[in-house]
Amino acid sequence: MTLDEYRKKRHFGKTPEPAGAETPGSEHLFFVIQKHQARRLHYDFRLELDGVLKSWAVPKGPSYDTREKRLAVHVEDHPVEYGSFEGIIPKGEYGGGTVMVWDQGVWVSLDDDPLAAYRKGVMKFELEGKKLLGKWTLIRMKPRPGEKEGPENWLLIKERD
Ligand code: MN
Repeated sequence: MTLDEYRKKRHFGKTPEPAGAETPGSEHLFFVIQKHQARRLHYDFRLELDGVLKSWAVPKGPSYDTREKRLAVHVEDHPVEYGSFEGIIPKGEYGGGTVMVWDQGVWVSLDDDPLAAYRKGVMKFELEGKKLLGKWTLIRMKPRPGEKEGPENWLLIKERD
């Protein structure tokens, strides 16, 4: 399905990260935020959807300030079991550095069809984590002219509860 890019980037003989498998969805969808001290510190925000973890790298991490729109760069799907991964990715390997779970819990889509919302680029949901709670929105920005080849930029925004 969608883990080809994830697997292509990694050498599973060298990194302790899981090779993973697509898993059938459950009613309680899992989310995780992993603090990733790579070349640059960022927070990897992952939502379980369609048997994988849809993933965004958030350089500044999430903010509870509803006026703050946090850049969330869309990255490749990760296996669901990646959500409990903590460890050190060796230097020189993809994403080399330390990964720690910063928050995890369940998320509840506020869209009729979460996968369609993801594809459309506007997702509304609630987080029930240890640190993060309440309503959030992820919205895909339109690419600037000539920017089509790059990664998708989304915004992570706290909504008023
Ligand atoms: Mn990362």
